[in-house]
Amino acid sequence: MTPKSAAAAARATVYGYPRQGPNRELKKAIEGYWKGRVTADALRATAAELRGATWKQLAGAGIDEVPTGDFSYYDHVLDTTVMVGAIPDRHRDAVAADPLDGYFAMARGTQDVAPLEMTKWFDTNYHYLVPELGPDTVFTADSAKQVAELTEALALGLAARPVLVGPVTYLLLAKPAPGAPADFEPLTLLDRLLPVYAEVLADLRAAGAEWAQLDEPALVQDRTPAELNAAGRAYRDLGALADRPKLLVASYFDRLGEALPVLAKAPVEGLALDFTEAAAANLDALAAVGGLPRKRLIAGVVSGRNIWVNDLEKSLARLGTLLGLADRVDVAASCSLLHVPLDATGERDIAPQILRWLAFARQKTAEIVTLAKGLARGTDTITAELAANRAALASRANSPITRDPAVRARTGAVTEADARRSQPYAERAAAQRDRLRLPLLPTTTIGSFPQTGELRTARADLRAGRIDTAGYEERVKAEIQEVISFQEKTGLDVLVHGEAERNDMVQYFAEQLTGYLATQHGWVQSYGTRYVRPPILAGDISRPEPMTVRWTAYAQSLTDRPVKGMLTGPVTMLAWSFVRDDQPLGDTARQVALALRDEVGDLEAAGTSVIQVDEPALRETLPLRTEDRPGYLSWATEAFRLTTGGVRPGTQIHTHMCYAEFGDIVQAIDDLDADVISLEAARSHMQVARELAAHGYPREAGPGVYDIHSPRVPSALEAAELLRTGLRAIPAERLWVNPDCGLKTRGWPETRSALENLVTAARTVRGELPAS
Ligand code: GLN
Ligand code: ZN
Repeated sequence: MTPKSAAAAARATVYGYPRQGPNRELKKAIEGYWKGRVTADALRATAAELRGATWKQLAGAGIDEVPTGDFSYYDHVLDTTVMVGAIPDRHRDAVAADPLDGYFAMARGTQDVAPLEMTKWFDTNYHYLVPELGPDTVFTADSAKQVAELTEALALGLAARPVLVGPVTYLLLAKPAPGAPADFEPLTLLDRLLPVYAEVLADLRAAGAEWAQLDEPALVQDRTPAELNAAGRAYRDLGALADRPKLLVASYFDRLGEALPVLAKAPVEGLALDFTEAAAANLDALAAVGGLPRKRLIAGVVSGRNIWVNDLEKSLARLGTLLGLADRVDVAASCSLLHVPLDATGERDIAPQILRWLAFARQKTAEIVTLAKGLARGTDTITAELAANRAALASRANSPITRDPAVRARTGAVTEADARRSQPYAERAAAQRDRLRLPLLPTTTIGSFPQTGELRTARADLRAGRIDTAGYEERVKAEIQEVISFQEKTGLDVLVHGEAERNDMVQYFAEQLTGYLATQHGWVQSYGTRYVRPPILAGDISRPEPMTVRWTAYAQSLTDRPVKGMLTGPVTMLAWSFVRDDQPLGDTARQVALALRDEVGDLEAAGTSVIQVDEPALRETLPLRTEDRPGYLSWATEAFRLTTGGVRPGTQIHTHMCYAEFGDIVQAIDDLDADVISLEAARSHMQVARELAAHGYPREAGPGVYDIHSPRVPSALEAAELLRTGLRAIPAERLWVNPDCGLKTRGWPETRSALENLVTAARTVRGELPAS
């Protein structure tokens, strides 16, 4: 093995590509199929056409080996569930009757049958469907989808590599099936699962696969010795198979750590590692195991989950170092390109000098090809690309958008005291009690009220120029009136304006902050046919004008009860955007926090006595490795306190979190120093109340008593029972009554009944409290 021959063999590849097509054709076809407007055959034809077009485009751009099997009608983990025959019992009949409809039933549920649970794919905003496994699970191989897609690509004359979710990750992502013991560990099914993978691999070999890729991102998380053992066994067994393609085990999203020696020793022919965020750690670990002699190394040097142009020279240097460490080095994105939008060239609203800083999937493909070419044939073969790249990077580094002196001066001057309330909680609480005069067990909501058809129409009318801004604002005001009068009538204690003006809780603010970019076509799959367009934190962030004050003030002008101001917190603003890669996340968070702090100040000055700063994403951006968590939580909680720390003691700061279990971040919740926190809790029967109590959480909390993710209306009896459960953990002086989350996805009739019941429940339980 000489570095030179390793270099000469360098190839370009990717692990996966956006699925939806240039004009979201896939989304339209699938939703059309659900509505009965598109036949199954037409849907299949659209899907095959999109796959073919993607492969041809990738190959045309110079990708040497295209991925297959990464395509999905809904989700690749669900596809894996089908591949291994782990169909939940409740879906077996539907799948037997019609595999396609059964597939969608597992994804979305039907009138009678619940879907699989959905949760986030590692620390991305992509959601997968959680496999349900139990001691009785019987796996059976169904390689049809993988084989068919490989066959399609090979028929186009392309070199293709099937990509599968690896067996260890598949089991680690699963949960116990209904009826299985709660402590059942799906990983104990490994020996049953491996023969099924063996069968699929043999089928792929027979269909012409030279290589197969098994994705094991779960191995970049902290793993127990037993789990690492299982990984070692899995790849020893699969490696020992006689009838199989060459195996490439792929990791991404973080460093492999202690799993690296395990995989390096395994009898597989290749490993793929993330050399973007985890570069230094993976490099050291690779050197420590003596490299990968006789193995193929795929180096993910182009970020697969952010949208900035690659620093090609830096990547080439990194690839050069890697050449000495493997038999062959190939170039790829760090992970599937599923997590970035398709093509930046369509963005007409972004100025050309900024557009050149951005690389979506198509631009990343070109970067990968350029890097592989430079590596294989020498940098003199890519001088034009390098020059253009240098110019783009310099234009970004030196742009006034990237560096705003006023913002820099302000963040530089932040002191510890800025991120601290002026009085300790007990004194603030007294001032707030005097000012707000709320009953025990005060009732409130999380912010949004149903986003009605009229509101969406109004926004569409505004965009299309059918109504002007004044006309639009009239409609929003009418909605606010309605929402306020309903809340007064129902007897809620702390009101909200309902967020009628917000399309999305991050985008609404991003559009008004300087330094943020919005895209027109930057769609990224969130789950199934749902796509989002994350805004881009492109430069230094400032707030030219108040963003929410007039709506809150208008709502407050309609009532004597307190109306809560409603903002999206700095951590969530980062989590649901593409972030800068040229400064620490904490620096970006601090800039966003200062902009929001101005808004908090203006709300307070306008007379707002209660201000909620939502941080639903605080838990989900927790780093994958435990070791990295304290650093993250430190800047995250500081950013929140910087947002809220400037208010007077009598101004009550609320926060809200959802979509998660909170047990492992109770200390961080405490560190936010919010006066009141509302949390999702209805489904877990107030679990979080017990967790807060166990921690000795000293401030007020509202564990949700209404599960807003379901159209079900909880009865007053049921809500009262949840409140009594909450009271066993949190005393009445500190317990709030609220739903789990915002109501924007609910309809009015259910919202009305549920909130009426919630108020009734609060009154009932108040009546049961010992008189003080
Ligand atoms: N205030 C937001 C709302 O009610 C919070 C949304 C969320 O937590 N995801 O819609
Ligand atoms: Zn929420």
